Amino acid sequence: MDIAAIAPQVNSLKSFFNQGQTRSVNWRRQQLLQLKKMTEDHEQEIVEALQQDLGKCRQEAWTAEVGYLLSDINHSLKHLTKWTKRRRVSTPMVAQPASSFLLPEPKGVVLIIGAWNYPFQLLLAPLVAAIAAGNCAVLKPSELAVNISSLLAKLVPMYLDQKAFLLVEGGVEQTTEVLKQPFDHVFYTGGEQVGKIVMRAATDHLTPVTLELGGKSPCIVDQDTNLTITARRIVWSKWMNAGQTCVAPDYVIVSKAFSQPLIDAIKHQLEEFYGKDSSNNPDYGRIINERHHARLVSYLEGQNVVHGGQTDSQQRYFAPTLVLNPDLHSPLMQEEIFGPILPIITVDKIDQAIPLINNRPKPLALYIYTNNTSFSDQTIQQTSAGSVCINDGMMFMTNPNLPFGGIGNSGMGSYHGQFGFDTFSHLKSVMKRPFIMDVKLRYPPFSKFKLSILKKLL
Ligand code: NAD
Repeated sequence: MDIAAIAPQVNSLKSFFNQGQTRSVNWRRQQLLQLKKMTEDHEQEIVEALQQDLGKCRQEAWTAEVGYLLSDINHSLKHLTKWTKRRRVSTPMVAQPASSFLLPEPKGVVLIIGAWNYPFQLLLAPLVAAIAAGNCAVLKPSELAVNISSLLAKLVPMYLDQKAFLLVEGGVEQTTEVLKQPFDHVFYTGGEQVGKIVMRAATDHLTPVTLELGGKSPCIVDQDTNLTITARRIVWSKWMNAGQTCVAPDYVIVSKAFSQPLIDAIKHQLEEFYGKDSSNNPDYGRIINERHHARLVSYLEGQNVVHGGQTDSQQRYFAPTLVLNPDLHSPLMQEEIFGPILPIITVDKIDQAIPLINNRPKPLALYIYTNNTSFSDQTIQQTSAGSVCINDGMMFMTNPNLPFGGIGNSGMGSYHGQFGFDTFSHLKSVMKRPFIMDVKLRYPPFSKFKLSILKKLL
């Protein structure tokens, strides 16, 4: 899009928002149904674009992108009326008689910036929440997922109200220009460095931000676990989308004594999922581009690779790879991996995992595999993370009643289900008082007597 056209177009969204049409629940429902129709009508093209961008197989493209979005839309449609209603709250004695409530109102025109790894749903799931809450929105897909970006640029104006929604394609130049506009909320999904740029830009207009970032999500494996299922779930959640998932387990912590059985079980499971040679397996994805491929290759320098390690930059192929006991100061353990390498760190006793995690930035997700409830309870209580899943990988993402978002370096704010609706709403507080019983205690002239009564009431 022409840079000069961005500001006037955002302004026209603002004018449309001010007309009040988006406040109607019917209008919101209509837009959500249109988004659903767009997804259903073009499912095949969406899946193909994901295949071209990330080598995503049909099943992953459906479950983690298309189906995920459809279920998000259905959930929002089901609860929309309830979410938009007044939320009554109690009123203290001092303000009686009165009624008090929160009234969710749309924030206005919001900006949603998506990332490339789940380029369809990471852009559109926040949009579902923004529409449900009655906002207009500017969408900025990631330029790295070229095919999804251009497909959505074609489809969004065909299905959604063009007076309320604008999709801006492009890279840093376009995003920088978009970020100069005075939005009512900015919702960003991506890496930490750009997250800081987004937050800095938002301060100019005092715009609230949601930052859905990443980080190194640890995975603790206790010896007291079901080894086969643990390995299966780790392999599923790590190597889905070739490890390019913000909530993939970044590294495993396991006791020395249990490390070899775990490594063997993971290798066995990898072979069961992707065969002896995953380079020809259609269920195994590709790295988004050569730059990220080279970054991942560099992580293996000087490391103890105990499985995999084969790469082909032309094919953007990177085999599922295990590294045993990497140097904790190496780039592999300092940066988010965001690819198919799984470091395995051994400790003498499994509860040493807790200080190891606490000495690092707060992760987006934390995984604990154990039958020992007191160990999992202790770990949840003594560590900090955006979300925790006990005995599985990213399954927690399927529950819209759990907010999804990071803490500290892994982000701020959250969405999914009603949490997304609330993110894009202002919960306006309203108190309504009748004219009866106008007690004069709070009015001048003041007296010791009035003050003593007030002290008891407040
Ligand atoms: P990316 O390169 O696609 O960038 C994200 C967005 O930022 C894009 O739309 C891009 O145009 C924009 N951008 C890039 N550089 C910019 C700049 N200088 N100024 C303004 N805008 C700019 O994505 P990425 O950052 O490589 O994404 C990977 C990261 O995203 C990982 O850290 C991952 O964990 C995180 N992530 C988080 C979630 C989540 O839900 N928490 C989901 C997916 C990815």
